[in-house]
Amino acid sequence: MAARDKLLPEVAEFLKPDPVQMFIDGQWTPADDGGTFETLDPGDGALLARVAEGKAADIDRAVAAAQKAFASEAWGGLAVKDRAVLLHRLADLVEAHSDALIQLESLDVGKPIPQADFDVTNVALMLRWYADLAVHTRYSEPIATPNFEARQIRVPYGVAAFILPWNFPILLAGWNISPALAAGNTVVIKPAENTPLSALLLCALAKEAGFPPGVINVVPGFGDTAGAALAAHTGIKRMAFTGSPAVGKLIASSCGANLVPVKLELGGKGAAVVFDDMDPKVVAQKLTESVTLNTGQVCCTATRWLVQKKLWDKFVPAATQAMKSVKIGHGLEATTQMGPMVSQTQRERVLDYLERGRKDGAEALLEGGPVTVADHPDGFYITPALLTGAPDNVCAQEEIFGPAAYAIPFGDEAEAVALVNDCPYGLANSVWTADLGRANRVAEAMVAGSSWINGHNLFPPGVPFGGCNLSGLGGGVGSAATFFDYLRNQSIVRPLE
Ligand code: ADP
Repeated sequence: MAARDKLLPEVAEFLKPDPVQMFIDGQWTPADDGGTFETLDPGDGALLARVAEGKAADIDRAVAAAQKAFASEAWGGLAVKDRAVLLHRLADLVEAHSDALIQLESLDVGKPIPQADFDVTNVALMLRWYADLAVHTRYSEPIATPNFEARQIRVPYGVAAFILPWNFPILLAGWNISPALAAGNTVVIKPAENTPLSALLLCALAKEAGFPPGVINVVPGFGDTAGAALAAHTGIKRMAFTGSPAVGKLIASSCGANLVPVKLELGGKGAAVVFDDMDPKVVAQKLTESVTLNTGQVCCTATRWLVQKKLWDKFVPAATQAMKSVKIGHGLEATTQMGPMVSQTQRERVLDYLERGRKDGAEALLEGGPVTVADHPDGFYITPALLTGAPDNVCAQEEIFGPAAYAIPFGDEAEAVALVNDCPYGLANSVWTADLGRANRVAEAMVAGSSWINGHNLFPPGVPFGGCNLSGLGGGVGSAATFFDYLRNQSIVRPLE
């Protein structure tokens, strides 16, 4: 039975319009030129929905609606506490409709239900976290300075634009727009063309929650049309992008031309440093869970496994065993631990990397490759891979974005830190040891936005997440600082007689 036949009634109802429309100014609307595109269920390679395809004219409409909403009494004139109430109401509705959001996300991305559940739960969490922060923030601060009465106020910028990727569509929508909305901005989202659906369902909930028209707009479409038009739009006051470094640079250039501040969350090549005082089986299992989470399509995941030499002979068989045991299947099936790649293109990209890595001299400790899953012959499935070899191998240096890890033995702490930092990225790494002094030393020495100890992919609310070097710029997401990024400072000064 195709997954399409197992839809919850609410998901079936949401997918009924053909095409599923975009959401501008509080209304469901077709594309200006009537264009549409298809989004697939990667677990079956089958059509999930046709969606209105936004282009520059639709981006113009969305930005105009967001500008109007920003200037309106209904949003711009709203007291902070009332804005916070709207965010909490939206969080309530996300929770109340979580089954539908989870199923839709699982179908569009291909991820297992528990992983989609984590993502949706996180959206409600972030909406509430930023709503509460907004209520407890001072928006006017006196400044002590001689001979003047001076203060600084904090005000929202205006229209904040978001260009988002396909690996965590709803989670990243939640992480990104929650601080912007809590601060009083209005938003235009361009979701990824592979996974536009959950952001659109979120709009339906926002409408029900009572968000005024134009506060949240979603324009699905392709990067080089809708995305490029949004990044270059002179009506936006802030831009946040999550995706590849190549596109991040294009977006930063467009925004730079208009002097629009930009936040970039780009790729990563996360390392996990495993010392020989750890149980190899336990760490191998955790790292397997990390690199197969979302089928390895996670920018901060552990992809370089640096293992202390004494542990190597026990770690490698434990790791290959754990990776072989991962249950691969359709996201909606209860037993599935790892779903398909999001698209055939991404599957080919990963297979191509594995091939290039081997040609470049890597040894496959576990051969990864395409696989057919029973009852889902047309899905984009792949098995996990574990390579080893020189640290300068293409698979040890570049982001593969699939369930593939590269293991390297090391001698001492200094060598491990040097290996970690021999990388153009700087997003997130982890260190695994029972010695907390050493753990904290190594955590501080690894150059990246996040260092995790005895865990990987850890996202408690309020803790900043954002990379350095090729992994991003502009302050990241997830913390109080992100909220203040969406408020500009204005000083008010009067000479005292
Ligand atoms: P991936 O290669 O993994 O799909 P991208 O960085 O290309 O990652 O895509 C992330 C987001 O950026 C998507 O929403 C995509 O549509 C958008 N995008 C791609 N190219 C451009 C572009 N030239 N300008 C603006 N947005 C783009």
